[in-house]
Amino acid sequence: MVFSLIRYQPYCTGAVLSANYQISRYARLGLIENARRVFDEMPHKSIISWNSIIAAYFQNKLPQEARSLFDRMPDRNTTSWNGYVQEGVILEAESLFWQMPEKNVVSWTVMLGGLIQDRRIDDARRLFDEMPIKDVVTWTTMISGYCQEGHLAEARELFDTIPRRNIITWTTMISGYAHNLQVDIARKLFEVMPEKNEVSWTAMLTGYTQSGRIKEAVEIFETMPEKSVISCNAMILGFGQSGNVSAARCVFDRMRAKDDGTWSAMIKGYERNGFELEALNMFALMQRAGIRPNYPSLISVLSVCASLAILDHGRQIHAEVVKSQFDLDAFVASALITMYVKCGDLFKAKKVFDRCSLKDIVIWNSMITGYAQHGLGEEALEVFNEICSIGMAPDDVTFVGVLSACSYTGRVKEGLEIFESMRSNYYVEPTAEHYACMVDLLGRAGHINDAMNLIEKMPIEADAVVWGALLGACRTHKNLELAEVAAKKLLLLEPKNAGPYILLSNIYASKGRWEDVVDLRKVMKARNISKSPGCSWIEVENKVHIFTGGDSVEHPDHGAIVGMLEKLGGLLRAAGYCPDGSFVLHDIDEEQKVHNLGYHSEKLAVAFGLLRVPEGMPIRVMKNLRVCGDCHSAIKLIAKITGREIILRDANRFHHFKGGLCSCRDYW
Ligand code: ZN
Ligand code: ZN
Repeated sequence: MVFSLIRYQPYCTGAVLSANYQISRYARLGLIENARRVFDEMPHKSIISWNSIIAAYFQNKLPQEARSLFDRMPDRNTTSWNGYVQEGVILEAESLFWQMPEKNVVSWTVMLGGLIQDRRIDDARRLFDEMPIKDVVTWTTMISGYCQEGHLAEARELFDTIPRRNIITWTTMISGYAHNLQVDIARKLFEVMPEKNEVSWTAMLTGYTQSGRIKEAVEIFETMPEKSVISCNAMILGFGQSGNVSAARCVFDRMRAKDDGTWSAMIKGYERNGFELEALNMFALMQRAGIRPNYPSLISVLSVCASLAILDHGRQIHAEVVKSQFDLDAFVASALITMYVKCGDLFKAKKVFDRCSLKDIVIWNSMITGYAQHGLGEEALEVFNEICSIGMAPDDVTFVGVLSACSYTGRVKEGLEIFESMRSNYYVEPTAEHYACMVDLLGRAGHINDAMNLIEKMPIEADAVVWGALLGACRTHKNLELAEVAAKKLLLLEPKNAGPYILLSNIYASKGRWEDVVDLRKVMKARNISKSPGCSWIEVENKVHIFTGGDSVEHPDHGAIVGMLEKLGGLLRAAGYCPDGSFVLHDIDEEQKVHNLGYHSEKLAVAFGLLRVPEGMPIRVMKNLRVCGDCHSAIKLIAKITGREIILRDANRFHHFKGGLCSCRDYW
């Protein structure tokens, strides 16, 4: 943070002896014994050395050792006590502070900074008012504290009454406004600032990008006298946030010096805007440039691996994570679990989960959601019971996971009980998402009218997810009447989504209501709605191969793939399969249905997998839309005939095909 930099800067000691440097380095790496040995072997121990070793013990969570060294220190001074403040042991520091015989403005100000760091802003203000002497650093520290807490009025009052301001005071106040998204006031102050510096320019820039005002951010960026790496990185992030990746790339390409923040900003920009392959490419380039992957870049690229479900890449990133020692971080652990879950490798997900020593609710949730998505209801419930038994409080995400697990495995009774207990036992208010789970649970089990009743009794407005769940149930249980109701609701809630239109049109067609079909098509045309083209992909030998439907020649191995499909076609027919294009209640377009059933993108990808994925390894295919019914039954048979395990992740869920069956039990 800019603030903490500002706070201690004026009192930093310039040169650091190499032994002291070693002590701090060992401390950072957690090698406290090595740090102590360096300290013990020093012939002459300066104040700085004493401070370094005390700080080292604090850093390694050994405050008692630190205290005993502090007591043995030959000349204790302000700086040694400083260590306590800097390591955040504020109560200890406070009691020592009041025992200090001579307090100068530096020690008062450091104590003030400590209280602010401890977020005791009112105590800080009392100390500030009590101080016999204050200098510009003291005032600026207090202003910075108020800014951090978002108390801008108090900060401004001090800023206006301060006897003397320096450049840091100005940038503190401007950054305060900018970070709290009061960017117009920040700008006014910025305009009258006597001497603008790098920090203030960058504060203005990030203020604008964080408020989504990209035009003004660009204006600041263009007029900045010197574009530092930090400001360029901020601009790349800003462009990324506003969805303009090509502008971000322009800045990136023009930079002569780049740091790891530059690379991660660009990777994040690609990842957030759906340019997954570009993000992967960027990450590879970063490694080739010899830049060590940092925390944000690893998080971005893990999420790319998860959304593309590319397991080989994911495993490599996992290795990077371990190398950089980020694997102990809870956020990274949950990203890793999600990645393995989405790649269909639950075994590895569970391993990461088990290795994680400090599990927060987010990590527990990733595991529950993972099991639920794979249709492993029992495992999901086990994790849920474990959460409750160790006394951790489940949150709303936990319940979405457990309820959908109940739903996927037909546990109506348990699901209803858990749903009832949410509010009474766990104080979690059900949201539309929870209701959607319940509608799904009831509907899936065939209690469609109960599901409809639940929707009608909902205390909150039913959203598209709830109606979508009802529609899914109607589809399975062939309830055309309620399907029509749900599809019509969806048309209102999601007018740009092609699915409900096509579905409704299929319902009308099946009843011979041709005029309604024509009307619906007209609406779709007028609203310019078209179904996004289906595509599937598969990762083979570290490369992602994308297939779109149809028989267009796109892939270099196209001939072999078609050959494989023809061979399979013969075997499938012999096994009693006949192509089925009559999925009235599936949102599949008429043309798509009749034409090219044999060349749907998922079939092409599976065929390619059969050609290239070694025997004994599961074939993992991803699809951007829901798998169609014909492909689903074809792939079930393909798995049986070839004896291969095929894992298909579609837009909704996972399908594990094995020996002629699918884990979804034909419900998706
Ligand atoms: Zn298909
Ligand atoms: Zn399935």
